[in-house]
Amino acid sequence: MSDITKQSLNSLIKNIKEKKLSSYEITKSFVERSEKSKKLNAYITEDFSNALVKAKKFDDSPNFDLKLPGIPIAVKDLFCTNGIKTTAASKILNNFIPTYESTVTQNIWDEGGILLGKLNCDEFAMGSSNETSYFGNVQNPIDENLVPGGSSGGSAAAVSGQLTPVTIGTDTGGSIRQPASFTGTVGLKPTYGSCSRYGIVAFASSLDQAGPMAQNVEDCALLQEVISTYDPKDSTSIDFKRNQYRKELSKNIKGKKIGIPKEYRVDGMPKEIEELWQKGIQHIKNCGAEIVDISLPHTSYALPTYYIVAPAEASSNLARYDGVKYGFRSEGYNLIDMYEKTRSEGFGSEVQRRIMIGTYVLSSGYYDAYYLKAQKVRRLIKSDFDEAYKLVDAILTPSTPSSAFKIGEKKDDPISMYLNDIFTVPVNLAGLPAISIPAGHDAKGYPLGLQIIGKAFAEQEILDIAYAMEEKIEFKNKINDWWM
Ligand code: GLN
Repeated sequence: MSDITKQSLNSLIKNIKEKKLSSYEITKSFVERSEKSKKLNAYITEDFSNALVKAKKFDDSPNFDLKLPGIPIAVKDLFCTNGIKTTAASKILNNFIPTYESTVTQNIWDEGGILLGKLNCDEFAMGSSNETSYFGNVQNPIDENLVPGGSSGGSAAAVSGQLTPVTIGTDTGGSIRQPASFTGTVGLKPTYGSCSRYGIVAFASSLDQAGPMAQNVEDCALLQEVISTYDPKDSTSIDFKRNQYRKELSKNIKGKKIGIPKEYRVDGMPKEIEELWQKGIQHIKNCGAEIVDISLPHTSYALPTYYIVAPAEASSNLARYDGVKYGFRSEGYNLIDMYEKTRSEGFGSEVQRRIMIGTYVLSSGYYDAYYLKAQKVRRLIKSDFDEAYKLVDAILTPSTPSSAFKIGEKKDDPISMYLNDIFTVPVNLAGLPAISIPAGHDAKGYPLGLQIIGKAFAEQEILDIAYAMEEKIEFKNKINDWWM
């Protein structure tokens, strides 16, 4: 089969189980395609020869009862992988080799998945364009001049460019959904506490959440089923009854009430996004669901709140990188000098900006005015959703306020970069699940995504709505392999 890398995860699994393809053949195809795709810069660390050895081993004694039998998968370089370099795309972790495995990646290997390599991302997952990586920016497989989104830009590029059948990313303020939207792929940010954070390099601990990225909703559901487990090693992991997301997937959404929040109609939003949203509303109606106008009154405060809470937590989480315990160290004439040099040489400018903002809002005298206030507003944002969910089952919004922008276009303008997250951050602040699905193209042919936000723990419900919509939308990703 010449088109192995074009196949969905579920079709690869079917072919493996029916012995039409071996794990080795599949792995080799993804390795070869990844090797030809260096120009995308999607990988930070490749583990191709090990992957081929593991695939052979799987074929020698296959276990077809596993959920990911012999399937090669590349993961974002924010997940600790035992014995394999994990950098968080930062110079400061350039030589860090973990001695333990993140729970989420362990779940994938336990179900038969095989590590292909570690994917590029924004440094410490801070960014919306994958341009803050110490290892250089990633190109969007749709067009070489475009960013793939961020921070899971390498993950999104790897799925849409068919370098991996599926992948996992992390989403603190939109880092799964925004790059999914920019690359014409599906990305799910699960409920906070659904996927373990153990072994994920921390950015903002009360917001970070791992999730699946895939070519379609069914693949996304299957990967969510694998990675979402209760984990006593993460004190914020929640022990709730998880669905068999793929098995229980249903297109029947008749009678469901879907909310349209008026506050997401922001000033300056391109006409194309409004049209996409209207089309989505029509698809929902065609599926037999009901549209309800709702209000989320504190939406406009979500972005400023996020950019206080996230940097505050980041400044605290990143204090551990001091040249003593982890990674890179710069020599100094005394301890303080060593700290200063290590941190100013080891962190890139966006990370330094976040640390400074975070330290400022937490400092005495400003704590009440900024951090405490932000926490109060966060509660109000959460209450908005609680009120809305008295009326509706889920909420439909655009995923991003624009299609993918040009590399370099927003790099020196942090505010305009931060504005990218306007539709995604409220979900993280409220701890809710949300999925982005490809829903159309703009005039230039670049993909656009729609976001479905669910109630806490209602991953199955939003996957079902996405599944029903996906059929009606019939989105085709315009990949033309320009980089090969
Ligand atoms: N773009 C947002 C930020 O820069 C979100 C990042 C993320 O979700 N990891 O903080």
